[in-house]
Amino acid sequence: MALHIHKYGGTSVGSLDRIRAVAQNVVKQREAGDDVIVVVSAMAGETNRLESLGQELSNKPKNREMDVLLSAGEQVSAALTAMALDQCGCEARSYLGWQVPIVTDANHTRARFESIETKRLKDDLAAGITPIVAGFQGVDGGGDITTIGRGGSDTSAVAIASALNAEECRIYTDVDGVYTADPRIVDDAQKLEVVFFEEMLELASLGSKVLHPRAVEYAANSGVTLRVLSSFIEGQGTLITFEDANMERPVVSGIAHAIDEAKLTVVGVPDVPGVASTILGPIAGASIEVDMIVQNIGSDGTTDFTFTVKRRDYDTAKGILDGIIKDIGARDVIGDNAIVKVSVVGVGMRSHAGVATRMFDALAAEDINIQMISTSEIKISVVIAEQYLDVAVRSIHKVFDLGNNVTVA
Ligand code: ASP
Ligand code: MG
Repeated sequence: MALHIHKYGGTSVGSLDRIRAVAQNVVKQREAGDDVIVVVSAMAGETNRLESLGQELSNKPKNREMDVLLSAGEQVSAALTAMALDQCGCEARSYLGWQVPIVTDANHTRARFESIETKRLKDDLAAGITPIVAGFQGVDGGGDITTIGRGGSDTSAVAIASALNAEECRIYTDVDGVYTADPRIVDDAQKLEVVFFEEMLELASLGSKVLHPRAVEYAANSGVTLRVLSSFIEGQGTLITFEDANMERPVVSGIAHAIDEAKLTVVGVPDVPGVASTILGPIAGASIEVDMIVQNIGSDGTTDFTFTVKRRDYDTAKGILDGIIKDIGARDVIGDNAIVKVSVVGVGMRSHAGVATRMFDALAAEDINIQMISTSEIKISVVIAEQYLDVAVRSIHKVFDLGNNVTVA
């Protein structure tokens, strides 16, 4: 008998009908002889609704109160899911974070897990009861409710899987797996049967929305096997697992894209030590995350310093730079918030030269200008103008023949 953790996202518990379908799915796995612990998100749209209520009422709501407010969404779906299971003749019991308890640090709205008590969950399983745990929430050492950051319930499921040494952590969502590219852009995008953790980490952080990057990281670090599946359509989904020397390694496994990017360039910066830190220091000080950085050395003793940020941070970042260019003796700040990042990812790149050239050729053939490039051992990312996103993804998908069979190293 295996223990599986099932995590159901917002759309999977988005209505009573969907919750009934979840219950049936759990019953099916229980009937096959496995134990299941269910972790739920709030019903779709609910956390956003709660968040805006808090923001409407108060211009500076305390994080402690935001946690009490936002965690309410999961309380509703956990109770309803337990009722739906009972309705199917499968005894179930809902748990909030503090009841388990799932202990976190005291960083409200972005808490991190410290420990998970497994006794009540194990006792329930031994008694044939299915525990339904509210995702996204925990309790700190002082007994206050915490949440772990938006989109956090994937990570809750992984943490529970790790604490109980579950055989598999199944993330049920509204897509039936991880695809070679976004199927809304590429008609012949293929579902991948297996993705390696290293690739999934890149794909998740480069814009593929299927799994939360923190959940992938947690699973990789704690050795939890993940599977992404649809709660709407039957199927085996995509298995995320560790690289195995006997497995075929694709040169390119998939293409990710991020549309929420923006670019800033400080022009004519004196080429002296300390400039990068003078420019990026205040940006980091404003808690703005910087992604790609490019610095060119000019022939006149100055350099152009370019970096990307999330689009929502663009105006703040531009304001900060406008305020410091005089001090650092730079000429100007120019920005562009209509850019996207497109990336190809695959562990096979490690043993294969020429991947970048193929990608760049595909873009050149479509007359798409590459504005920035960054690479790691298993990924190549380019920044291009937003208007070329679809053409770029399709042409790269084609050049690596991802619509037929994944090219194997
Ligand atoms: N309900 C929370 C959110 O919307 C957590 C989650 O769904 O993962 O952010
Ligand atoms: Mg969600």
